[in-house]
Amino acid sequence: MAVPSFAPPVSDHTQPFWDGVAVGELRLPRCSACHAWQWYPLSGTTHCAGATIDWTPVRPVGTIFTFTVVRRPFLPGASKADVPIVSIIVELDDAPGLRLVGRLADGIEPRIGMPVTGEFYDHDGRADLQFTSGVGAPPSQ
Ligand SMILES: [Zn+2]
Repeated sequence: MAVPSFAPPVSDHTQPFWDGVAVGELRLPRCSACHAWQWYPLSGTTHCAGATIDWTPVRPVGTIFTFTVVRRPFLPGASKADVPIVSIIVELDDAPGLRLVGRLADGIEPRIGMPVTGEFYDHDGRADLQFTSGVGAPPSQ
């Protein structure tokens, strides 16, 4: 099955995330003052007044917190041939307390607590990230 080519809208707040994905790097927002992770991206921090956001590279390695199997093709241009898609929420090893929504690669049976690793790939001419089972990413820098 093929995943529809649906690019989410990019805003000033999410552009640094997609800039990282484009070069094969998972970058997440972190408060410059207290270093707390902050997800979803916002223009400022929710922790410390006057602090800024530091987009910090992390390894795309973690465990499945929960998942759902999408069996209806709801994305624009999708058909029944494009489903099922396994949507997962990942707790990342390098960003404690942050849970990232992602997609599990086709053919992998999801399980809560399963170790996963993100892989960047070309999706109809744009970079995207999906997770596979197991751990294999290089250590963080
Ligand atoms: Zn803070």
